[in-house]
Amino acid sequence: MQLNYIANASTPSSSGRTIPVIDPSDGQVFDEIQRSSAQDIDAAVHAARQCFDAVWCKVSAAERGRLLMKLSAKVAEHADELAAIEQRDCGKPTRQAKADALALVRYFEYYAGACDKLHGETIPYQDGYSVLTWREPHGVTGHIIPWNYPMQIFGRSVGGALAAGNVSVVKPAEDACLSLIRVAQLAAEVGFPAGAINIVTGYGHEVGDALARHPGIDHISFTGSPGVGTIIQQVAAERHCPVTLELGGKSPQIIFADADLDAAIPMVINAIVQNAGQTCSAGSRVLIDELIYEPLLERLGQAFEKLRVGPAILDLDVGPLIRASQQQRVWDFLSDAQVAGIPMVAQGQIVDEAPETGYYQAPTLLRDVPVMHRLAQEEVFGPVLSAMSFRDEDHAVELANATKFGLVAGVWTRDGARQFRMARRVKSGQVFINNYGAGGGVELPFGGVKSSGYGREKGFEALLGFTTLKTVAIRHG
Ligand code: NAD
Repeated sequence: MQLNYIANASTPSSSGRTIPVIDPSDGQVFDEIQRSSAQDIDAAVHAARQCFDAVWCKVSAAERGRLLMKLSAKVAEHADELAAIEQRDCGKPTRQAKADALALVRYFEYYAGACDKLHGETIPYQDGYSVLTWREPHGVTGHIIPWNYPMQIFGRSVGGALAAGNVSVVKPAEDACLSLIRVAQLAAEVGFPAGAINIVTGYGHEVGDALARHPGIDHISFTGSPGVGTIIQQVAAERHCPVTLELGGKSPQIIFADADLDAAIPMVINAIVQNAGQTCSAGSRVLIDELIYEPLLERLGQAFEKLRVGPAILDLDVGPLIRASQQQRVWDFLSDAQVAGIPMVAQGQIVDEAPETGYYQAPTLLRDVPVMHRLAQEEVFGPVLSAMSFRDEDHAVELANATKFGLVAGVWTRDGARQFRMARRVKSGQVFINNYGAGGGVELPFGGVKSSGYGREKGFEALLGFTTLKTVAIRHG
């Protein structure tokens, strides 16, 4: 049984209740986590506050960096163990689970190096004054994390917060807690003081809500669905608590007739099947120049048919979805497509070894999806790619911007001037030209516009959000 991790100690929840942990590859229960309550959040916030006031605020930036570097090395040492935990908990194929563990190593390494490079400025002002700015930590930061990339999102969010001098209380998703509990234990082993990293597990409407409402939380970093993002924003507004919202996307891959299709095709496919399509920055729409619509759909269809889906441990192209309700959600989208007469181009194959009790979905390519249909507007969060054609550049921009989201976009063209025009005109937090990062890139600021959220994580930019700016004006004559 897994316990919370508060003040560097494994701690049962006050309720004594638990939540079963299910392996998505076979649908079987293999562990349990604590079903915590507001009381447990209160204990974690108290531990974090004590740590901040008594210890962490006195630790120099260089020392914070050394600790994060040690944690990076420790995670690297335990990368296979963490990947195996994540694989079973989340159904990630081996390559994906390992990539996530290595991304965590890299996040801690990046933020270790950034700690002592975060500084304020001096501002020219009137004669007789010196004015400077300080970047100060918020204090106790709350982190609400989704289930799709627990280690990566912990790395970018908690790594950045610690580097900027904050302490943290973390609420992982109820479907994906195990790796983060282990990472917090490793942090204690390398010397993070008690209370710097606290993990409290449980349901969002119970323990996530308690975290967002707690008056001792000075900043909330929320990564998750747009609907819950709205709730967090409203709850935080009641006490004017700053919030970073990393929400969903319906990201377009825009392919012009002059594109290098040999380069584009594998990336277009990877961007929708990676993590079984359960990626905020999944390239879930492909907008194709009408001049190459038919031949490109044929090539994409052939590639889709070769994709194989099965248990995480087999390390195929696609693993299971996280849980039964997610599988049902994808089925509902596909049945809506059928009702609307949206043609299916191709589907991958679920292998015979896949247990019937696992949550599998074959990757599916749909064509001629009407721009206002929910398959072109809403996150499926499964391996379903919606294709549509465009007439010219203006039409491509219109389609690309025709959703409430704006997280990531991919543009494929050899025309240099068009690359710049498209990068300017597409409304999203990141634009990839002739590549698609699917949210990757530890160093690259990441976040959305419109309903994809606001604030940035990753890169140095994230550190600014994890600090508050103080202006100091000294009149010395
Ligand atoms: P979710 O919103 O259901 O849950 C996210 C987290 O919020 C979980 O820890 C959950 O327990 C908690 N939560 C749920 N209700 C809550 C409440 N009322 N108060 C406080 N916390 C609550 O999202 P999910 O299904 O876990 O994750 C998928 C979503 O996350 C997708 O929409 C995806 O696009 C988004 N996402 C965004 C990014 C990004 O960086 N933009 C990254 C990954 C995932």
